[in-house]
Amino acid sequence: MPVLKFEQARASVIERVRLSRKLGAPETVSLLASAGRVLAEPVNADRDFPPFHRATRDGYAVRSADVKQTPARLRLKGQVRAGSFFSETVGAQECVEIMTGAPVPEGADAVVMVEHTVLRGEWVQVNRSVAPAENVVVRGSEARQGDCLIPAGRRIRYGEVAMMAAVGKQAALVYRQPRVAILPTGDEVVEVGATPGPYQIRNSNSLSLQVQVASAYCVPLPLGIAPDREDRLREMITEGLRADLLVLSGGVSVGKYDLVEKVLGELGAEFFFDGVAIQPGRPLVFGRAKETLFFGLPGNPLSTMVTFELFVRPALALLSGEDGSPLIFLRARLARDVRRRPGLAAFLPAVLESNGHDTLVSPVEWKGSGDVAGLNRANCYLAIPAHAEELRAGEWVSVLPR
Ligand code: AMP
Ligand code: MG
Repeated sequence: MPVLKFEQARASVIERVRLSRKLGAPETVSLLASAGRVLAEPVNADRDFPPFHRATRDGYAVRSADVKQTPARLRLKGQVRAGSFFSETVGAQECVEIMTGAPVPEGADAVVMVEHTVLRGEWVQVNRSVAPAENVVVRGSEARQGDCLIPAGRRIRYGEVAMMAAVGKQAALVYRQPRVAILPTGDEVVEVGATPGPYQIRNSNSLSLQVQVASAYCVPLPLGIAPDREDRLREMITEGLRADLLVLSGGVSVGKYDLVEKVLGELGAEFFFDGVAIQPGRPLVFGRAKETLFFGLPGNPLSTMVTFELFVRPALALLSGEDGSPLIFLRARLARDVRRRPGLAAFLPAVLESNGHDTLVSPVEWKGSGDVAGLNRANCYLAIPAHAEELRAGEWVSVLPR
């Protein structure tokens, strides 16, 4: 099978997930509990937004034509505060004291800020003219009753919660959260609580994967550790394929005991790719077996983490019901020269910091894809295009925050 380029592999994942995802029946959850979930229905305006011509300043509601020439003298007719209304019409040379959030009375078409006025008994001197609708949000200018305010397929965050609250929704219809089976493999891998033998490694991948899955608002299902033995691997993979997505770690390289692909193949898997020209994470496997998509992530901890961010997280966004799955890179200036061997697109642990006006990034020292300590000196991944050999300090580069 060919090794795909980074962008090809990403496109393959997005296309396959889009084609094969089955979004289950949505469920209704309370508004606060909906944060992080994906909307399964659009949110529409229950009335005009704003529902009345709303003052955005404290001051005086005026007819803008009356204050073309300044200073202007207007008769103070009364007061209107937020939550109430003024029942009369503002006539020529008249004004009404108004507070932020209050409805602009009939006849008036603008608000003069109190700072630009002087109150003298029954009279208000206006020292600055205003354009029509100045300091006013016109009724329905944000949205009309019935307009779609948030489309289905949108991840709910605080802004969406505010919008739903504003239209009076106390509950939201959301998609079910995908369940993600997590299956670490390797004879040398032992549970975190165990005392490792001299040549054994604690199972950190299952833990980092659970956190990554949960941070994508999906449900992690850790399956325990599979040994590098075909029979047991087959049982555990079969169990994992009952989830909405199976994520394996380890056992996908070319070693004699890398059995994951072999066992998946025997279970009838279709492989979309089994290698990507990236560093770390080259032996990444993506396919489908028994109607379930799976990722075989390489076992080296940084490879596992980086390939999750680059491929699994976008897949989970789609499986969760989101209508897109952007992977957003930031741009930053390289803090120092970087030289390297070209060929693989690289995602190197790096530090992103601000010097007050620019955002600078510099790769950290690391000992390769097993170096979790190196990752913990970093707060981002510096993305280097496959062909790049030498990058100069000051150059704009892409960065994926972690
Ligand atoms: P593999 O991809 O199976 O060849 O494993 C590559 C490297 O990752 C080996 O050094 C493994 O010991 C290490 N590794 C594999 N699985 C895990 C795991 N669950 N947690 C931590 N390290 C692992
Ligand atoms: Mg292994």
